[in-house]
Amino acid sequence: MSSRSTPPPSAPALPIRTRCVIGAGGARSISLLVFCPRRAETLDVSVCERCPRFARVATHDEGPGVECAAAADQTSAELHAGALARSAVLCVRRDAPLDALDDDERELRVIPVVDDSDRYVGAVVRGHPSAPPSSQSRARVPAYLPTVEDGLDHLLPVDERDGIVTAATKMASSRERSVPVVNQKHVVVGLLDDVALLASIARARRASEIMKRCACGAIYTRVQWRHLALVGRMEGAHGDTLELRNCTACHSTLVVPSIEASNVA
Ligand code: SF4
Ligand SMILES: [Zn+2]
Repeated sequence: MSSRSTPPPSAPALPIRTRCVIGAGGARSISLLVFCPRRAETLDVSVCERCPRFARVATHDEGPGVECAAAADQTSAELHAGALARSAVLCVRRDAPLDALDDDERELRVIPVVDDSDRYVGAVVRGHPSAPPSSQSRARVPAYLPTVEDGLDHLLPVDERDGIVTAATKMASSRERSVPVVNQKHVVVGLLDDVALLASIARARRASEIMKRCACGAIYTRVQWRHLALVGRMEGAHGDTLELRNCTACHSTLVVPSIEASNVA
C-alpha cells in the first residue's frame, strides 16, 4: 500500500474491511475493501490508491483505514447501509465443500453464498434446518452435506446504497439479525448487523434534533435551546426574526432564526 501525502494526525479514516471467499477446493481469497462516501460504493483499496483524494493507509485505534479528503463525509455516508457493514465478512462459493469451514466459522450466524463472480446467490443461516451442523452437534451427525449448495437459504440482502430505514425494513422482513450487503452488481461487499443499524438510526435522529452548536463545543437540541435564557430578539438581514440565547457553558450569545427555534417536535 502506498502513501501520497501526509494528512494531519487527527484526520478521520475510512475503515478497511476484509472479504474472505472460500472457493470450490476450499482455497481462500481475501479482498481489502473500503466504502467510499464520495461514490457511495464499496471499492477495493487498490482502487482508492489511484484516486487523487487518497492520502495513505494508516492504523488507528479502530483498526486500519484509508485517510482521504472524503473521509470527513463519513457521517453522512453512514446513512448508507454499505458504510455500516462489519469489519469482516466470510463468503463461500456455492460449490465449496462444507468441511472447508472451521469450527468457529460454523458458529457464524450468516454466511453469504456467492457465484464465481462473488455475486450473491443466498446464504447459509445458522439454526435453519439445512445449515451445516455446529461444532458441538457435528460429531453426532453421521453424514455431512457435501456442498454449500445443499444448505442454501434465500435470505434477502440489503443494497449498499440503501438508506438506513430501508435497510432496517429489509432486515425486519428477513427476521435475521445479520444480512448480507451487496453492491449494484449484486456482489457481496459486507455483512450488516442489527446493532450497527440501530446505532446509526439513533445517531441520525440525534443529529436531526440538534438546534445549535456553540464554538465552545456545547450542543443544544431544539428542546434544550428553548430552555436557555432568552437574551433578546432582533431582525435578521432578510426580514426574519432571530432569537438570541446564552450558552450555559461559555456564556457566549448564540443566534438562531425564530421560525426554526419554534419548530419543536
Ligand atoms: S481515496 Fe477516498 S474519495 Fe478516493 S476512492 Fe478512496 S474513499 Fe473514495
Ligand atoms: Zn458555548
